[in-house]
Amino acid sequence: MKIIFSDFDGTLTSNGLLGAIFFDILDVTNKMNAEFVIVSGRSISWGHFFLTHFDLNYVIMEGGGVLLYKNKFGHICEEVLVYDEDVALLEKITQKIISEVPGCVMSADSFGRKTDRAIEFSQMKKEDIDKVTKILDDSGLHYSKSNVHINFWAGDMSKYLGIKHFLKHYAPHINEEDTIFYGDAKNDESAFEGLQNTVGVSNIIKIIDELTHKPKIVLEGKENSGAAGVYMHLKEIADSSIDF
Ligand SMILES: [Mg+2]
Repeated sequence: MKIIFSDFDGTLTSNGLLGAIFFDILDVTNKMNAEFVIVSGRSISWGHFFLTHFDLNYVIMEGGGVLLYKNKFGHICEEVLVYDEDVALLEKITQKIISEVPGCVMSADSFGRKTDRAIEFSQMKKEDIDKVTKILDDSGLHYSKSNVHINFWAGDMSKYLGIKHFLKHYAPHINEEDTIFYGDAKNDESAFEGLQNTVGVSNIIKIIDELTHKPKIVLEGKENSGAAGVYMHLKEIADSSIDF
């Protein structure tokens, strides 16, 4: 494997926490001489954090809306992957939701988001969630549920499109079959559909029936939940000469 793509929440964390095993995953990746790319629904600010404090060169954030990378001077650069008109439409509909659904709880990091917004659905009444999704449907916006948020956006973007853009422009020498993707939620489905090598960590079982496109491999057992599942699977690839 040359590139390891991975979702963050629920995939690289365990019970919501980032643990030491995350660094073991990066260590295995380094030993494989592979690139590790986090592909997350979290905001750009989180991407800055990841690139600043972890030994990573690229991250894809906001569910595929923005790619961040370190240039040759080590500076963090951003590439927005959706059109300006879509960004403007998103802001307009966000204001409509805020004014028409007072019970809507925008995620704390919505302020730092460019290409999508997120809602804390666990803190909202079902009727308010329904009102928000109706506005989104009526406006032609898209939305997806992760294990922490409902994210919404305008225009064509997905984790898979972000990964495809990354491969084409930042890693053109890498074949897609030499990459692998790990995920755990509904917002990983585009990657499960589009990529050849995909793995669901065992906690994906909670939502597996909601997926039309499931990962090729679904890990089983508590010991393969979240980051532990990624670590065990990746280590197996690293230790064996047999390809995925
Ligand atoms: Mg997740």
